[in-house]
Amino acid sequence: MVTKKKSKIPCLSLSSFLPALEAVTAAVTMPGGGAPPPGTPSSKPKEKQKSKVVVALYPFKAIESGDLSLEKGAEYEVVDDSQEHWWKVKDENGSVGYIPSNYVKEKETIGLQKYEWYVGEMSRQHAESLLKQEDKEGCFVVRNSSTKGMYTLSLYTKVIHPQTKHYHIKQKDTGEYYLSDKHCCASIPELINYHKHNSGGLCSRLKTTPCDRPPATAGLSHDKWEIDPNDLVLHEELGAGQFGVVRRGKLYGTRDAAVKMMKEGTMSEDDFIEEAKVMTKLQHDNLVQLYGVCSKRRPIYIVTEYMCNGSLFNYLRRTSPDQLGPAVLLDMCLQVCKGMAYLERHNYIHRDLAARNCLVGEANVVKVADFGLARYVLDDQYTSSGGTKFPIKWAPPEVLNYTRFSSKSDVWAFGVLMWEVFTCGKVPYGRMKNNDVVEMVQRGQVLERPKGCLIEIYNVMRACWRQSPDERPSFRALKEELSAMLRD
Ligand code: AMP
Repeated sequence: MVTKKKSKIPCLSLSSFLPALEAVTAAVTMPGGGAPPPGTPSSKPKEKQKSKVVVALYPFKAIESGDLSLEKGAEYEVVDDSQEHWWKVKDENGSVGYIPSNYVKEKETIGLQKYEWYVGEMSRQHAESLLKQEDKEGCFVVRNSSTKGMYTLSLYTKVIHPQTKHYHIKQKDTGEYYLSDKHCCASIPELINYHKHNSGGLCSRLKTTPCDRPPATAGLSHDKWEIDPNDLVLHEELGAGQFGVVRRGKLYGTRDAAVKMMKEGTMSEDDFIEEAKVMTKLQHDNLVQLYGVCSKRRPIYIVTEYMCNGSLFNYLRRTSPDQLGPAVLLDMCLQVCKGMAYLERHNYIHRDLAARNCLVGEANVVKVADFGLARYVLDDQYTSSGGTKFPIKWAPPEVLNYTRFSSKSDVWAFGVLMWEVFTCGKVPYGRMKNNDVVEMVQRGQVLERPKGCLIEIYNVMRACWRQSPDERPSFRALKEELSAMLRD
């Protein structure tokens, strides 16, 4: 769960400042120094601005009036991109409507992104999990290599035993690309095409790519957060938490969702509903997306992205550290860190970061959940640091002493979360009573190094547990550090 600092989230994209910037430039460059009076015809014929054209990376089905469907690979002219998450575009038939901006890419800069095999920034561990999950001979992706500007082919084979092989795509001085130097091609798509027909030294021919799953959209439509319960079909129970039961649901008959049915009296509902409008606009690959709320009748429902492997805590408990391996565990921490760095950038404080509040999807994807909820909880036992339900074991000294939350108190909690990950779901401080934990933390004692955890990784946890919040690293710095470790 999360709380927000006083400043509002800056939801404006750079493009929303552009008209203002253009006006300023015009004023500055006017001959004579001043801007012409309104209505004065310009002496120069105005240059027609080149329109921005985007290509759809995923299909999108318009459901709300005012939205426009996208066909994968098709081109659209951007009419209005002043909002960050929903752009107004025109299709080839002249129909205009809103589309999710993360489903398209500018044509001029699309590069390899138009190919279904290109996955961009994806860690080696994630590529392995993804291909293992597909479990198909010759399944492959091309991803950015850890060396900037280079690419890596990750290829799954079941010959002898299931494994993923990683090949650097090399480039000659002549500019040609190759995997084995006998077969050079002028471009990466040509090289991929060649190896679709010839293994040419690889462990398999390139046969197939993992299923393309469109990302979550920021809310369900442009400026929409209220969901009609008639558009939602409820299925089995997924679990139960602080606010009540969570069930799997289907939105509009197509999209999986998780539905939190808020037990009455557990939260200040009107305040939360106001906040939900802002929260639907928080969007990151490592945050569980809030789609909207059903708030017109009681109990209210909070509708979010569905994560098929449930809470990170339970996922870790079901698995042994050896099964996942240290690189996958570190990658899971990095994913949480990336989601938290996004919240930090938007001045959002989580307040209750812990493995139980993160969720796991397919191929070991981890996302941070429940941001924003803590501020609306009505239970004193949960909100006051003396309460029995307060997450004391994840709290730094300044929270225990003065209830002073900040992104740096989230960083402390992140250190504890890393410890939970590397112990595969052990309870921090074991059976120690809350009072004893508080005393221990005040004395400056910290959790011990998990068994088998590298000293470098434990040192990152220790940096998160520095007594003074100012001395702890930011999530941004942690992200850099963990990424570098994973590369090495
Ligand atoms: P919570 O109320 O957030 O503590 O959720 C209770 C339980 O419901 C969790 O431990 C999960 O097992 C399940 N759950 C909550 N949200 C989701 C979701 N978005 N997708 C899948 N399972 C969920």
